[in-house]
Amino acid sequence: MTSVGTVYLVGSGPGDPELMTVKARRLIDEADVVLHDKLPGPEILGLIPEDRREDVGKRAGGEWTPQEYTNKRLVELAREGKTVVRLKGGDPFVFGRGGEEMEHLAANEIPFEVVPGITSPIGGPGVAGIPVTHRDHTSSVSFVTGHEDPTKEESAVDWQALADTGGTIVVLMGVGKLPQYTQALLDAGKDPETPVALIERATWPDMRVATGTLESIVDVRDEAGIEPPAITVIGGVAATREKVVEFLANQTGEWDGEGEEE
Ligand code: SAH
Repeated sequence: MTSVGTVYLVGSGPGDPELMTVKARRLIDEADVVLHDKLPGPEILGLIPEDRREDVGKRAGGEWTPQEYTNKRLVELAREGKTVVRLKGGDPFVFGRGGEEMEHLAANEIPFEVVPGITSPIGGPGVAGIPVTHRDHTSSVSFVTGHEDPTKEESAVDWQALADTGGTIVVLMGVGKLPQYTQALLDAGKDPETPVALIERATWPDMRVATGTLESIVDVRDEAGIEPPAITVIGGVAATREKVVEFLANQTGEWDGEGEEE
């Protein structure tokens, strides 16, 4: 009998290393092996020595490592007695296939632990000055994948229902199909002037934000050259950024003693 190692399914947050949990940081420092893709971002991946990490994301040819390979590799390493961190951008259970990996580990009797992380559809808008809920705008928020083709017969995302709720819609993996799902929302009767924001590489050193409306955002995307990874926020809350962005850029922490509280 040999002892089996533990697999930690760890969320690394949106990318700023200081936004990782204390536990995530400890585990990546202690792990024998860290299995990751590119999403944790350059700053966090830079903290892990190359000889202790394995990339199970996109391969050189642009193809994704099959999920079956990653599942098998997790079991294999644990059975070698290794402490393994499966590091995922954001939270491991938000569009991260963490659920599938957890089920596979349990089925193979591999000890595991889940370590949540700050998910990008909440933290990403947040650092851009966009609260996903706000009493003046919405009391609900939906997280959806933009990867699905909304024109296909059985789209897993019901854009009509989302439009009808009137709540904030946050789209992940939604850069490429932005034209399709913004059109789907317009067709569903959503106001063309609905504010929309794109947050690219949130909390990475080169983060960018671009804003527009449901009608203009595709042009905004093209002009700015927004690329994945990016978050799309659709709803009144997306406009709150405009109210604070100038202040955010120029805040000095000084008060000249003039003026009343707003
Ligand atoms: N598990 C992740 C999501 C994985 S799906 C999480 O909880 O955040 C991949 C998508 O996440 C990307 O296409 C993008 O929409 C979003 N994403 C992840 N990190 C991001 C970041 N730092 N900035 C913007 N979008 C990000």
